[in-house]
Amino acid sequence: MPLKSDGGQPLPDAAPMPAPPSAPTSFQPVSAFDLPRYAGLPSFMRLPYLGLDDAATAEVDIAIVGVPWDGGTTNRPGTRHGPRQLRDLSTMIRPVHPVSGVNPFTLRNVADLGDSPVNPADVADALDRIAGFYGKLTSRGITPLSAGGDHLVSYPILKALGADAPLAMIHFDAHTDLFDSYFGGFKYTHGTPFRRAIEDGYLDPRRVVQIGIRGTMYDGADVAWGLEQGVRIIRIEEVEDRGIDSVMAEARSIVGDHPTYLSFDIDAIDPAFAPGTGTPEVGGLTTREAQRMVRLLSGLNLVGADLVEVSPPFDPSGGTAWVGISMMFELLCLLATSPATLRRKA
Ligand code: MN
Ligand code: MN
Repeated sequence: MPLKSDGGQPLPDAAPMPAPPSAPTSFQPVSAFDLPRYAGLPSFMRLPYLGLDDAATAEVDIAIVGVPWDGGTTNRPGTRHGPRQLRDLSTMIRPVHPVSGVNPFTLRNVADLGDSPVNPADVADALDRIAGFYGKLTSRGITPLSAGGDHLVSYPILKALGADAPLAMIHFDAHTDLFDSYFGGFKYTHGTPFRRAIEDGYLDPRRVVQIGIRGTMYDGADVAWGLEQGVRIIRIEEVEDRGIDSVMAEARSIVGDHPTYLSFDIDAIDPAFAPGTGTPEVGGLTTREAQRMVRLLSGLNLVGADLVEVSPPFDPSGGTAWVGISMMFELLCLLATSPATLRRKA
């Protein structure tokens, strides 16, 4: 029996936050010159908040979406709280990219579409709910930029985005997330999303590049399986030896102009900069290196992106969430200049 509101009406089932009374026609962030950046309701990037149906009517091109779920976490939890803290800190983001000069909010209609439905107590049901929500986004022609959540959330997102044809992917992470199973055959954890996505045909492994891999290992079975499938695994030592420009040029050549997903696990960045995550590994990227690497991906045919694994309980200063949302702005600028999001505003 659903809960009743004060007026006796059943509350909507598994809906995101309620939409404002009228859908906005402007997609500009609230100006810091009208209202200070620390004030007001914290939507992503201070953008208008829309429900899914209003977003289609209003011709949203890019939706920023939270996935407040960490049911795939095998170690230290808490990323279910990521979207709320990322939203809060996102109010400090200004609208213009400092290097490219891109203002994503003048190139595309961008809005905060709230949080995906989730089920914190049932993994399979959560995956179904998330995939269903993203299926509705893609059927409306809306490109998602997502905030996790643990890395298993990428799997139902890819299930929706890669339903028709396998995608290419550029994946920043300390870990391959290509394990087969945990705990005696359990197949769905944040260590397995890309193994499942390859097996299910949502990713083309010959067009998958993983960058920043490091850390102590169990047995290397994840790496071995990935290499067998044709995944290009670029360890952090190779990044250091070859340099960022060379590595990113190779990554670009592997995905080419194929429809490509970009997944960024915050633990790709060194815990000196981003300690607020469940599975930190020393010897990672600096924030400056990460920014440079992502900026070198401009012009790719990106169909979606995510930033995952920020865990606010391990981030009391908010510093890791600040790194995370700063990287999300970099991803947003890539999406706003991707040919895949030109659909409505060519
Ligand atoms: Mn990961
Ligand atoms: Mn990781």
